[in-house]
Amino acid sequence: MSSSPTDFIPFARPDIGEVEIEAVARTLRSGWVTTGPETKAFESEFAAYLGGGVQAIAVNSATAGLHLALEAIGIGPGDEVIAPTLTFTATVEVARYLGADAKLVDVDPVTLNIDPACIEAAITPRTRAILPVHYGGLACDMAAIFDIARRRGLQVVEDAAHALPTTSQGTLVGQLPSAAAVFSFYANKTMTTGEGGMVVTRDERLAQRMRVMRLHGISRDAFDRFSSRTPAWYYEIVAPGFKYNLTDTAAALGRVQLQRLPAFLARRRQLAARYLAELRDLPLVLPADAPVGETHAWHLFVLRLADAARVTRDEVIQRLSDAGIGTSVHYVPLHRQPYWRDRYGLTPEQFPVAEAAYQRMFSIPLFTAMSDDEQARVIGALRSIFE
Ligand SMILES: *Cc1c(COP(=O)(O)O)cnc(C)c1O
Repeated sequence: MSSSPTDFIPFARPDIGEVEIEAVARTLRSGWVTTGPETKAFESEFAAYLGGGVQAIAVNSATAGLHLALEAIGIGPGDEVIAPTLTFTATVEVARYLGADAKLVDVDPVTLNIDPACIEAAITPRTRAILPVHYGGLACDMAAIFDIARRRGLQVVEDAAHALPTTSQGTLVGQLPSAAAVFSFYANKTMTTGEGGMVVTRDERLAQRMRVMRLHGISRDAFDRFSSRTPAWYYEIVAPGFKYNLTDTAAALGRVQLQRLPAFLARRRQLAARYLAELRDLPLVLPADAPVGETHAWHLFVLRLADAARVTRDEVIQRLSDAGIGTSVHYVPLHRQPYWRDRYGLTPEQFPVAEAAYQRMFSIPLFTAMSDDEQARVIGALRSIFE
């Protein structure tokens, strides 16, 4: 690959090699392209990767997984779920699919994760669940969140789209005592299936419900109980389910990516460590690292302009773009999005931390296929902006 200084460095680029291409081609040649043996193998390998006896249910997006999880725990009309404002709309749009409402709350100024004190303050008699998002790949304060959930009788469903792999007090996200955790395999996540996701739970009843609802409400119980007697063509519809199953072509890609995940993590850590070391003297607030001994997935590397920076966030993004470097902003907070703002009459003053962060934040390239030279160009471009 060429590395001329005019080459554009995207904000993210999937790391898909010949092994993945071969696995997908093998699946295409097999004649079975929808959900089948590859998906089943992907689910059991993913569950084994997390450990702790979790069940894994493959779906065609994390959004689908979040919808299934909220449906399975019984979220419905009139209920409320609490989520951070600094997230992607998928975290909470699924509550609206079910006729429930989202209570958006502010984040912690250091980690940018949901602030437990804000959760506590947002609880009403209608509150049913807390939806923590492990922002950028750093675990939320799960001890505090589980404490609130236990005391107030709430469920926890983790939006773990950034958190593969992430630990909280030494335990992998996916193995924590929440009702469910939902991972994303969207193109820019820490591993990809193009589009796809995985819901994990240790609750057998929830797992069964999500499996049924993932595919049209078709119950497999009839097959399982009477497998020798029930004809192959027979099935029973027990609910108006969804069409959220993952294809075998996507699962074949995912199985290879999962095997590469330890190497992906090592590379992300290396890139993050270099950014942390080489950007520390600039007028920037660097992203919080994980506590010693914990795993940060480093899905994102989010910088914030410090008070001493004499440029605006938009100017920095323009200067980087002029230097051939892609950036993004994670996120335009939901309280600023017309739908959520107008539905709940939200104002920036209600979310001072997320609002201040949003004004100053930008995400720089961090992806495993990025070369050391490309990273040096990003660092050099940032340095030249602040000199
Ligand atoms: C990517 C993402 C999602 C949605 O994932 P999909 O697989 O695209 O549905 C949800 N929440 C967060 C925080 C995300 O970053």
